[in-house]
Amino acid sequence: MKKRLSIQEYTNGIIAGNRMILSRAITLIESNLAEDKQLAQCVLESILPNTGKAIRIGITGVPGVGKSTFIETFGKYLTTLGKSIAVLAIDPSSQLTKGSILGDKTRMEDLAHEPFAYIRPSPTGTSLGGVTNKTRETMLLCEAAGFEIVIIETVGVGQSETYVHGMVDFFLLLMLAGAGDELQGIKKGIMEMADLIAITKTDSGNEISANLAKIEYESALHTFPPDGSGWFPQVVTCSATQKKGIAEIWELVEKHREMLSKNGKFVENRKSQNLAWMHDFIKQSLEQNFYTNHNVSIKTKEVQQAVIEGKKLPIHAALELLKVFYNNK
Ligand code: GDP
Repeated sequence: MKKRLSIQEYTNGIIAGNRMILSRAITLIESNLAEDKQLAQCVLESILPNTGKAIRIGITGVPGVGKSTFIETFGKYLTTLGKSIAVLAIDPSSQLTKGSILGDKTRMEDLAHEPFAYIRPSPTGTSLGGVTNKTRETMLLCEAAGFEIVIIETVGVGQSETYVHGMVDFFLLLMLAGAGDELQGIKKGIMEMADLIAITKTDSGNEISANLAKIEYESALHTFPPDGSGWFPQVVTCSATQKKGIAEIWELVEKHREMLSKNGKFVENRKSQNLAWMHDFIKQSLEQNFYTNHNVSIKTKEVQQAVIEGKKLPIHAALELLKVFYNNK
């Protein structure tokens, strides 16, 4: 890693919109070194007053649904409106397999060359929770750097989309037409979180099945109880390659923001997301401290065996480990 800058240098650079310093600050946030973590927290604290102004959009969908193609087209459309856009990714695969479902920034090469766009691939980490926290912090840096729209992309096949839903204002689910009843492995819970479902690849003779899928998803959405925001989730069709339905999607994002800003739900949602972030962080820190405690790990080996052999109740084993932890802090 390059030489670290001072808190002031990071802060001034970020606020001035200096890309190089923004990237270095993100690298600092992604670092697991204790001194980097400390410096990163100071930088975050000092840019905090400049955060919160962007529209935060989460985009999810199964691999192959067309996320990167969509984000490229959507992002370029937004830049033609004069908006600046940052794209961040949470890739749940990278912790498990060291591989990547989302790939890196070469996926959106055109957009990456736009002067008003900034693309940052997934941070790596040992836990999805940890990666998610880093993405939240990165989002704040991008906001402080002046980006008006922050897109957070993830694959809708596991837990990561729930995390993303918890950090954005608007949640867009991309779906394929012709998926049938099983809804392509997208769990009902994900559909329930969506503010908008966009059926991708509505082109090349795919229009009829896309419109049928639209009706199907609309009726599925009707079975969900309202989320209390006053917004009713919608379904649209689009084609990223033919640039169809893209402007309409942006209009809906703006309409959603307008409606929720008026009825106070926008701010309310951000407040509860911040509280959830605090609690997430507490849980992760406690868990990490627990499992990295030397005495706990020695004792774990011992009691695990007793649990496996049925000689000890899991709950008793857990209580013993917790006792070791609290006596050895
Ligand atoms: P991701 O895995 O969800 O990011 O999906 P990609 O954006 O990589 O797209 C997967 C495939 O679908 C690629 O071969 C794209 O060229 C294709 N694709 C994406 N969007 C469209 C579209 O609007 N129309 C058509 N016909 N193909 C598309």
